[in-house]
Amino acid sequence: MDRFSIIVGDITQSDAEVIVNSAHNTLLGGTGVDGAIHRAAGPALLAECRSLGGCATGAVKLTSGYNLRAHYVLHTVGPVWQGGRLGEPALLASCYRSCLELAAQKGFRSVDFPSISTGAYGYPIPQAATVALKAIMDFLAAHDQPERVRLVCHSEKIADIYRQTWNIWYAPDKAHKMPTSTDDNRK
Ligand code: ADP
Repeated sequence: MDRFSIIVGDITQSDAEVIVNSAHNTLLGGTGVDGAIHRAAGPALLAECRSLGGCATGAVKLTSGYNLRAHYVLHTVGPVWQGGRLGEPALLASCYRSCLELAAQKGFRSVDFPSISTGAYGYPIPQAATVALKAIMDFLAAHDQPERVRLVCHSEKIADIYRQTWNIWYAPDKAHKMPTSTDDNRK
């Protein structure tokens, strides 16, 4: 799947046309990736967010990117992990799918996602990775747009969990496996 990759980085530095923010229902900023995106974009982002009337969990709202390299920001609200039996997987899948649907509808060519819900919202990363990757891979299999989708993980440890999960479900054979840091250690 050449259209999808898992990378390590700071999403505020992304060169994608649109980045995804893991926001709160109020859209008024917060900690983690949300705070970093607002700091990098500047106060005009918060001003636009104030006019949007918040966002439901699993839904998405679009703004400009202001001082970011990305031209736009898709603000989505992930579920708070409460043990996994209160609809968290469906809501998390909806975040990824809603962002990709809106990006395709707007004709955005490249979209970068953070690891939604896995920080302050407490979603265990292995479970989140399974849900996120299925939502992204199902969407890409059914749509030509966006041309490029990346998951930007904030650490190598997080990226490894996403890559290992991708390898379990999506690598057609060994040659296509996403290299993990464990692979590097064996060299
Ligand atoms: P949530 O409320 O969705 O849990 P957080 O921002 O607390 O949001 O965490 C979501 C993920 O974003 C975590 O895996 C965290 O490591 C990651 N993260 C934090 N800052 C950045 C950043 N600048 N770029 C990419 N990912 C980030």
